[in-house]
Amino acid sequence: MTTQIERPIGVTLADAAAFESLARSFQGELVRPGDPSYDQRRKVWNGSIDRHPAVIARCAGVSDVVGALAFARRTGLALAIRGGGHSFPGLSVCDDGVVIDLGLMNEIEVDAGAGTVRAKAGVLLGELDRATQAFRLAVPTGSVTHTGLAGLTLGGGIGWLMRKYGLTIDSLLSVEVVTADGEVVQASETVNPDLFWGVRGGGGNFGIVTEFEFRLHPVGPTVLSGLLLWPLDDAPEVVRFYRDWADSAPDDLTTALVLRRAPAVDLVPKSLHGKPIVAVACCWAGSLDRGESVLEPMRRFGSRVVDLVAPRAFIEHQAMLDPSFPPGNWVYSKAADLRTLSDDVLGILLDYAARLASPHSGITAWQLGGSVARVGELETPFGSRQSAYVVDMYGVTDSADGFEQERDWARDCWTALAPHHAGVYVNWLMEEGERRVREAYGEQRYARLQAVKRRYDPENVFRLNQNIRPA
Ligand SMILES: Cc1cc2nc3c(=O)[nH]c(=O)nc-3n(C[C@H](O)[C@H](O)[C@H](O)COP(=O)(O)OP(=O)(O)OC[C@H]3O[C@@H](n4cnc5c(N)ncnc54)[C@H](O)[C@@H]3O)c2cc1C
Repeated sequence: MTTQIERPIGVTLADAAAFESLARSFQGELVRPGDPSYDQRRKVWNGSIDRHPAVIARCAGVSDVVGALAFARRTGLALAIRGGGHSFPGLSVCDDGVVIDLGLMNEIEVDAGAGTVRAKAGVLLGELDRATQAFRLAVPTGSVTHTGLAGLTLGGGIGWLMRKYGLTIDSLLSVEVVTADGEVVQASETVNPDLFWGVRGGGGNFGIVTEFEFRLHPVGPTVLSGLLLWPLDDAPEVVRFYRDWADSAPDDLTTALVLRRAPAVDLVPKSLHGKPIVAVACCWAGSLDRGESVLEPMRRFGSRVVDLVAPRAFIEHQAMLDPSFPPGNWVYSKAADLRTLSDDVLGILLDYAARLASPHSGITAWQLGGSVARVGELETPFGSRQSAYVVDMYGVTDSADGFEQERDWARDCWTALAPHHAGVYVNWLMEEGERRVREAYGEQRYARLQAVKRRYDPENVFRLNQNIRPA
């Protein structure tokens, strides 16, 4: 790839030598203000984030990552690391600094015999599913296919297979990491175990992960999954029935309760278009016959208006929520863990669901438990093992119009739930400050993360993240 050597904005003349030296050895692409692809490359999933980096280093491999990191350190420019660009608060892009973009590093190598897969840090969830499902295997990841594997894994990774096979980090076997001083190291249970502990939930605080190795699990290729819808008027009975049904469900089933306005699509009766509804989303990853009988009571409950539950390819199921979360929308999200879906909690959620204004905003409560809860609380930094639900309230518009109102709705709903908060999933935080990051981990895990940070990044080079301060 040819690279015309020009100084990026923000780099002083003295630093220009550093940039020239980076450009000479860089194998990927260096994108700067004024380049035709600059505006496309600086965009992240959340349309409300509009930042202008000095240079976007689209790395082709580990040596590019090492080079771009050295450049950022030498110039003292701000440094952001980008996997899939789906951080809610846009932490993978910065003004006037260097973005190390891993998107070109997207090789996947499945070893079906060994039951493992290696994925580079630019892989998206849908790409991993496609590669592994060719062998009827899967890694438990998240629920929207264009999310980055890197950021999701580094925070924990909740999704449709978690009650059966655990979080994404529970299947992580090893990582390759470029540390703050530019060293390329491996980490696993036996090699640099402190670093391996840290990356299983501690985010990008300890270095740039360039490759992940996961254990694979048998999945599908067909699962029993889909959405069930009721009008919001029926919600008080539906949500209570859902709670008890989900509580007693086997681990093969993972569910989520969704409150939003019904989309104007043919599958939904016209009378409900644009009206608040309650939905139960589910994925049964066991034998289909057993799944039919486990799901039946929920499917038959009350005056359900839509039943989209059916046997479908796991890959198709994984894309089910994609249309609801397109890139470019303006998003403000607030999240909290809940110990239980008590009547009080359900009352608050339904009250705020009735006030939903935007057709894109909503509330999703993901059911945890099962395999997630069976891993010891200190075995990984992930702080939500014993929570029953993680709930996310997202205020969303398709432009700046009406965004403040949606943001206030999400904040107000979160505040109303405050007496019931029981922690928060770190990947669902906005930029909410150190207190909230500590809350996500709890004091014991946070102190241990600080010790790992002190060892691998004492100068806090990696700070555009849910930052853990070196002890
Ligand atoms: C539409 C949507 C759906 C989602 N669904 C789920 C879900 O089902 N389950 C779930 O658990 N979460 C979900 N999330 C949250 C998601 O896990 C986080 O937003 C996650 O950070 C996204 O990862 P990314 O690589 O795309 O993000 P990025 O914005 O690229 O990165 C996020 C953070 O990780 C850091 N980072 C990224 N890559 C690396 C790396 N290789 N090394 C070191 N640091 C790195 C970045 O610097 C940044 O701080 C969802 C988010 C969105 C927007």
